[in-house]
Amino acid sequence: MKKVGILGGTFNPPHVGHLLMANEALHALSLDEVRFMPNAIPPHKQVNYMPRDAQRLDLLQCLIDEEAAFTIEPYEIERGGTSYTIDTMRALTSREPHTAFYFIIGGDSIDTLHTWKEIDALMQLVTFVGILRPGSQGVSTYAVTLLQTPQIDVSSTLLRERLAKGYTVNYLLPKQVEAYIRKERLYGAN
Ligand code: ATP
Repeated sequence: MKKVGILGGTFNPPHVGHLLMANEALHALSLDEVRFMPNAIPPHKQVNYMPRDAQRLDLLQCLIDEEAAFTIEPYEIERGGTSYTIDTMRALTSREPHTAFYFIIGGDSIDTLHTWKEIDALMQLVTFVGILRPGSQGVSTYAVTLLQTPQIDVSSTLLRERLAKGYTVNYLLPKQVEAYIRKERLYGAN
């Protein structure tokens, strides 16, 4: 069986926290690949501004550039509409019956797993892998494989705020991602 990690998110923008999660899961679980999967319309999040789909994919491409085991899963963006993980994973598991999927989530998502659509059915399709995040409990009534990793208190919200204010994002956002944001003048950056 091929072992594939899926890291779903809004990635608005993607940042070092996402890289840390993917890398920790890759090594701790000896995954063959980690796919970053941008959602179309996130079910649990109010989003005021998002770059265009092509820009979102470019941002992720900049993020994963240096790690051959990191790839992009465009399924949800291509399908469009509200991105429920159960619908996505039904499609991916039937497309790839010989792959074991590991769905990687941060602490805040661990805390709210019970609200996910058809969570019991989803638990049958994937192994949930949790990465703790400052401010989250990381407690769930559902089985989550919790990894012991460094915790990093960075979020897309913080980066959007800093970019709009013209404040430094060094070491929080990889250089190539920052350069793309400035070139395209996203998030009020210049
Ligand atoms: P926002 O600030 O816009 O809400 P975010 O930083 O939480 O965004 P998302 O793209 O929504 O980023 O997150 C995708 C996944 O990554 C989620 O499961 C989230 O919990 C997790 N995640 C994001 N940042 C971190 C972090 N610093 N540590 C651990 N998990 C994280």
